[in-house]
Formats: sequence, C-alpha cells, structure tokens
Amino acid sequence: MNQKTKSTTIDKPPGFDPKRRSLLGAMATAAGLTLAPGVILYGITRSSPAKARALDAAASAEKRWGILVDVSRCDKDCDACVTACVEEHNLSGNGRPTTDVQWIRKVEIRDPQNGTSKFLPMLCQHCENPPCVDVCPTGASFKRADGIVLVDKHICIGCRYCMMACPYKARSFVHEVVENQKSYAPRGKGTVESCTLCVHRIDSDRIPACVEACLDSAGGALLFGDLNDPNSEIAKRVARYASQQIRADLGLNPSIRYRNL
Ligand code: SF4
Ligand code: SF4
Repeated sequence: MNQKTKSTTIDKPPGFDPKRRSLLGAMATAAGLTLAPGVILYGITRSSPAKARALDAAASAEKRWGILVDVSRCDKDCDACVTACVEEHNLSGNGRPTTDVQWIRKVEIRDPQNGTSKFLPMLCQHCENPPCVDVCPTGASFKRADGIVLVDKHICIGCRYCMMACPYKARSFVHEVVENQKSYAPRGKGTVESCTLCVHRIDSDRIPACVEACLDSAGGALLFGDLNDPNSEIAKRVARYASQQIRADLGLNPSIRYRNL
C-alpha cells in the first residue's frame, strides 16, 4: 500500500448489496463509450461548472457543490488526490513527517461477507446538516449558502467539539506553528481545519485540486459539479446511476456521493 494511504476502515453503509453493485457496474459500462479493452470515455471535462465570483458577491444558495466518486475507477495504490491537496494547501509538516496533515485521505472499506476491500478517498463530506456547525460554540464552523462547510480561523478557539461531532473524522487540529502558508488557505496553530472543497478555486472558476489531479494523472474517479443543476453532469449521473452517501443513516445528507461501492 502506498505510504500516504491510511488504512482506516469504515463500516459498510446500510443497504449494501454486492449483487446490485455488479448490476450497476454493468449498467455504467454499457452507458460509457468503449475505446479499447478496459478504457471507457465518460465525457469528463476539466472545465469547472462554476463561474468566477466577484470578491464582494455572496455565494449562491442556488448552487450545491459536490463530488461524485466512482470507486471502481479509484486505484488502491493511487494517491494523486492526496498529493495534490497537500501541495495545493501546503499541508507538509515543515520537515517533520509526523505532522503531515491530510484533508483528503484514502480509506479502506471491507465487506465482512466476502472479505473483499474497496479503497476510496475520504474528505469532509460537506454535509447539508453538519453537526460540526451545530456544536461550534463560536460560529467559527459554518456552511456557505452553496453548501461548502468551512472554519473561520479568526474565531475558532480550538475547543475541538467539531472534531468529536464529525462522524467522518474529517477535521484535524493544528498543533504547531504553520510555515509557508498559502494566502488563499490560511491555517493557524490552535485551530481546527478540514477540506475546503478548494473554495478559492471554485470562486475563480476552477475545479478542486484533487479532482483536477485525478483527471490528469489517474482514473478520473472524481466528478465535481452543482448537484442542484439538473443539466450538470454530476446531477445527471446521480439521477441516472445508483450512488451512496457514506453513513446515509445519519441523515446529514453529504455533498460527496460514491458510486460502485
Ligand atoms: Fe462537518 Fe464532518 Fe460533515 Fe465535514 S464531514 S461538514 S466536518 S460533520
Ligand atoms: Fe468551532 Fe473551532 Fe471549536 Fe471547532 S474547534 S467547534 S470550529 S471553535
């Protein structure tokens, strides 16, 4: 397993049915355009469905940004998304490997019925009903109108309630002074942080770094877009194919969906 892959295990979501999964996989293959054995073109585009937003313009409640992860296209040993996120936000440990942080990580899901495993990227799920926001005593943890969940580092007091409330272990605490920060992704000792869905990119009409890296150098397993726009590719695929939310039973309605689990 790749050195950057964390072998966290997550319970299978309820309703998991391997037979149904096989059928859906066959449906997906039938819907794609086969170029050569094992190569299927799905019409994934690098351009963002987002339109650049003026700095003083509010995020639109008409949007709901999300990512559809096709687990069947995510290779066990690939960490292109993880590496891209680390570079985009300069999450390296300033020479101290033990302090490396991952806002997106690879996790393993094991099927206890047949012993098989799937590997998928796990990040903040940008929940519609985020418990991290509910428990935050200062309002530092908040959700934008377009569904992106963020932490305001200026008012975060580092109590870590949100870390305990998040069922996806998506948040981490900054223990040390952070050097070489990116201006678009401020970080601070004593505060909590997590995936921002590359909000700085979305607001300037670009797709998240992990999605771009997966398209460029991996299997194109990540599709970003507006779940509220019925004409967007992500909304069409969510409507056409079965997809799952991790721990859908919790009722948090995450913006990150998974296919072929
Ligand atoms: Fe909050 Fe965790 Fe949901 Fe992200 S995944 S919105 S940190 S509860
Ligand atoms: Fe809010 Fe910060 Fe406490 Fe999290 S650690 S609950 S963002 S004040």
